[in-house]
Amino acid sequence: MEATENKYIKLQLQKTLGVFEECTDDLIFIYDMLNDHYTISKRALDTYNLPGESFNNVSETLLSIVHPDDREMLADDLNQIMDGKKDYHNLEYRWMDREGKVTWISCRGKVVDSESKMFVGRVSRLDRRRKADHLTGFLAETQLKIDYAKKMENKPNGSENFLIVGIDNLKKINQKFGMDGGDKAITYVSTAIKSCIHEKTKFYRMYGDEFVVCIAGDTEVVKNVYKDIRIKLDELISENNYELFFTISAGIVEVTDSMSYDELKMKMEFSINQAKKKGKNCVCIYDEEEYQEYMKILDIQELLRNSINNDFKGYEVFYQPIVDVSTGRLLGAEALLRWRCEKYGNLSPVEFIPILEESGLIIPVGRWVAYTAIKQCKEWQKYIPEFKMNINISYIQIKKSNIVVDILNLIDKIGIDPKYLTFEFTESTYIENDSIVKKLIKTFSDEGIKLALDDFGTGYSNLAYLQNLNVDVIKIDRSFVNKAMADENIYSVINHIIDIAHSMKLSVCIEGIENEIERKKISRLVPDSMQGYLYGKPVNAIQFMQDNILSSMA
Ligand code: C2E
Ligand code: CA
Ligand code: CA
Repeated sequence: MEATENKYIKLQLQKTLGVFEECTDDLIFIYDMLNDHYTISKRALDTYNLPGESFNNVSETLLSIVHPDDREMLADDLNQIMDGKKDYHNLEYRWMDREGKVTWISCRGKVVDSESKMFVGRVSRLDRRRKADHLTGFLAETQLKIDYAKKMENKPNGSENFLIVGIDNLKKINQKFGMDGGDKAITYVSTAIKSCIHEKTKFYRMYGDEFVVCIAGDTEVVKNVYKDIRIKLDELISENNYELFFTISAGIVEVTDSMSYDELKMKMEFSINQAKKKGKNCVCIYDEEEYQEYMKILDIQELLRNSINNDFKGYEVFYQPIVDVSTGRLLGAEALLRWRCEKYGNLSPVEFIPILEESGLIIPVGRWVAYTAIKQCKEWQKYIPEFKMNINISYIQIKKSNIVVDILNLIDKIGIDPKYLTFEFTESTYIENDSIVKKLIKTFSDEGIKLALDDFGTGYSNLAYLQNLNVDVIKIDRSFVNKAMADENIYSVINHIIDIAHSMKLSVCIEGIENEIERKKISRLVPDSMQGYLYGKPVNAIQFMQDNILSSMA
């Protein structure tokens, strides 16, 4: 083919491209394979790092924006076209944008002139294209974003609320009944939503199987819509004999003048998560105060994490004396974690320990507490050879880390007799039949490490279950002691508990003895040990040494 002829075809194509690119969101391209020259809609440059709308050295330049894992596949396909083995191209793969983020694209094209190898086609962003959900017919989130921007241009005059609805435990439904079962559940929910709301309303399905709809009216109106949806859903489930009765949670966010889309989304997610946290199958109206509290927790979590990365700076272990009831002698100490930071000062463990637990940070921190406290115990045994150390552990450490191995390693490394260590965990209903806890108890007792059941009397205090649990010590909580001081019945319950515990060869420690009156009255019940402000508040190691170790030696 003449070079001039080739140029002519290309010019015509480029003109056509100029027209077409105005009419579509896609990117149009012409690839002159013989001359190794590529032209693409100028808009491509906004997103992708290409040298210009036209460039040579095509395979190299183009491949530079293709995801490394997709390059071979693309080069293969183009080679086949070049060799005349095929004349079309239809691939879905990844282009990296200017920020290095992955964008999924669909690239389709055809050789329009086999001699000139002029290859024309379009590139379409897959993530942008999905405007509706095939299963429910609901619009996709991209559309919600566009519609929300329009709504904000013409500010609404009456009250309007966004309702977000999500299926509780969809993952479990999918696992149990397969994707088809899950799809059915999704269809029932979308049908229920549609049947409860004016048909002109736009319905959206978000990524992650949540549904969103904007409803005119105040929050009470929207709450009632949610209730209607639930009733309708229950009807659909029973009419269709669906295998499982499932529930939905929801959140409500009021539209305000200046709220950006990102803010709306964040508030919707927050409110539906609150509903799920409150036990699911309910609706929560977005609450700014709750949100600020949540943000504070996230902030603290970040600071707690920074402290760990900063060589545990800010963390400290305090020690509170435990004394023998019959002799009044110091037996040992309970290690109690402290944490301070510039922004929030000294935070109570009651506040920061749940944050450590929720984030899993309790695992490294707990390990550090155990290390610090065991080392300290060993140190104090130089002064009081039988000195014992109690260390608190969380269920998360038992469940999500190899705490048994960690502790055995520490014992070995520090070189302490395990019989001087007691690990305390709180009683909770889930402990009873938990195989991980049972295993921990068994290994600890085989190794001669003691276990204490903490906070006895605050929750599920069942004496029969103590027998199965096989611990060495029970610690009776301060709140129980408080009540016993005022109520003779409770006093005799504690008496009874101590008797039974002793008959099971369990040792009993009473917590939170604050004054002489309490000490006298509780001592009559003959527990084994006591702990409380009367004997000493938790203090740091230096202070404990002065107040307790040295004085008990004198
Ligand atoms: P806990 O294990 O029941 O510890 C006893 C709590 O009672 C301590 O609170 C202690 O300061 C307080 N206390 C002791 N004697 C008295 C008293 O006479 N009167 C009153 N009113 N309180 C007394 P603290 O140090 O604030 O710790 C709170 C909780 O945080 C602990 O309760 C424990 O559950 C948890 N915790 C502390 N350190 C750790 C740790 O290293 N790991 C884990 N997992 N939890 C810890
Ligand atoms: Ca404790
Ligand atoms: Ca306790």
